[in-house]
Amino acid sequence: MAIVWPCPLPADAYVAAGRKVEVPRPACPSCGESLVFWSGYWRHIRAGGLADGRCPKIFVPRVRCSLCRVSHALLPAFVLAWRLDVAETVGAVLGQVAGGACGVRPAAARAGVPHTTARGWVRRFGARAGELGVAFAALAVDLGGEAICPPAEAGRFALTAIGAVFGAAAGLPGWQVVGRWRFASSVSGGRLIAANATSPFLIVGSRRFMPPVPPLPA
Ligand SMILES: [Zn+2]
Repeated sequence: MAIVWPCPLPADAYVAAGRKVEVPRPACPSCGESLVFWSGYWRHIRAGGLADGRCPKIFVPRVRCSLCRVSHALLPAFVLAWRLDVAETVGAVLGQVAGGACGVRPAAARAGVPHTTARGWVRRFGARAGELGVAFAALAVDLGGEAICPPAEAGRFALTAIGAVFGAAAGLPGWQVVGRWRFASSVSGGRLIAANATSPFLIVGSRRFMPPVPPLPA
C-alpha cells in the first residue's frame, strides 16, 4: 500500500537528497496511530530537466503502523505508481492530447519520451476518463469549487474536472506550489493512469489523501 504525499520539491532536489530526503510522517490511514519510519527502497525516475538520458534513483521511505502491522511506502507526488516518468511529464502529454492541442507523436517528442509510452498513457487515461471526470468533478464541489457541466468528450471532461479541483484546492494552504499534476497524483494515490484503480474520490473518502504537512508558504 502506498501513501502519496504532496511533495513540493523539484525532482532533482529529491534525487540529490538521497536517503536523507525529508518527508512528513503521516498518521495511519486505518487507525490514526502515528506511523514510524521503517526502512525504504530505491526506484528509478525519469524527468525532464535532469541530466540527459539519465534515470536516477530516488529513495522511497516506508512507514509502519505497529497496531495494524501494516507498512506503507511514502511516494512523493511527482511519482506515479509503476511509471518511470514523473507526473508532470505524463500530465503534459495528457493535457495536450486529451485537450485536443495535438496528437500523441508531437506531444511525445516534446516530452522526450517514446511514442509508444505516451500512447499507453493516453489510452489508459482515455479508458478511465469518464470515471475520473465524475470523481474529480465531485471532489471539486466538495472543496468548494464550481460544478462543471461534462463536455461531450470524456477525456476533455476529465481534464476540465482535474483543472476545476486543482483550482479549488489551490485556494487551500500549501497546494498551489505543488502544481496540478502532482495534486492529481496525490488525490489518486499515484494511480491516475493505473490499470486497476479505485476512484480518486474513494481515496479521499478513506483519507489516504494527505494535505500538505506542514503547510507550505503560499
Ligand atoms: Zn494503524
